[in-house]
Amino acid sequence: MALNKLVAGNWKMHGLSADLAEIKAIADASRQYPSVDVALCVPAILIERASRAVPGFAIGGQDVHEAEKGAHTGCTSAEMLLDAGASLTIVGHSERRDAQRESDAEVKAKAAAGLLRGLAVILCVGESLDVREAGDAIATVTAQLDGSLPDDVGAATLAIAYEPIWAIGTGKVPTTDEIAEMHAAIRAKLGERHGKAGAIRILYGGSVKASNAQEIFGVPDVDGALVGGASLKATDFMPIVAAAAATG
Ligand code: PEP
Repeated sequence: MALNKLVAGNWKMHGLSADLAEIKAIADASRQYPSVDVALCVPAILIERASRAVPGFAIGGQDVHEAEKGAHTGCTSAEMLLDAGASLTIVGHSERRDAQRESDAEVKAKAAAGLLRGLAVILCVGESLDVREAGDAIATVTAQLDGSLPDDVGAATLAIAYEPIWAIGTGKVPTTDEIAEMHAAIRAKLGERHGKAGAIRILYGGSVKASNAQEIFGVPDVDGALVGGASLKATDFMPIVAAAAATG
């Protein structure tokens, strides 16, 4: 059976109490599209208020610490995310791999901890422009995935987000052939590592917007999107959800 498409918004470091109305608008409008799984990953401090504002709608974190608890100043555990009402989290976003110097091994530990404790996990991978231009994108991203992918995903809910770093927030998007080629390579790597590769959704992320969503969702092996800037307003985000529904 085909999986629902997943369209997840990454609010990054955006979101105050005043923005709960926008989250509510997105959650309410999403009910029109039962064939699409919609989620918003908001700053950790907003998760509890967002979850209370939109019961039944998927609210997520943007990172999780691999430890259950302990001396990790400023970090958030999976149990804390769940306790605040989150049902999922992003791990390994390129902004964290870059600014926080997160290695593949750390991302793997974070993904494993999230899955083990009952969060759905969106694990991000993606290449830089230099790597793309050198012709090494497929080898680099599949190696990054190999190093970041937990060994046992069991019955857990895992999605991979392919996010070329050069496409994030830039308005640039790979060609549909480039997306198809990368998603097929990711699917093959998942198959090599885990028998149930077909049950793991592969999202595309990087400058997805209303004007390109339908074309991107039509690419083979694209099972949804991770959306940054265009997820902050219902008027920008809902056409992307509608495009996911339209492409089944
Ligand atoms: C992201 O950072 O996850 C992202 C996809 O951003 P944008 O949609 O703004 O390119």
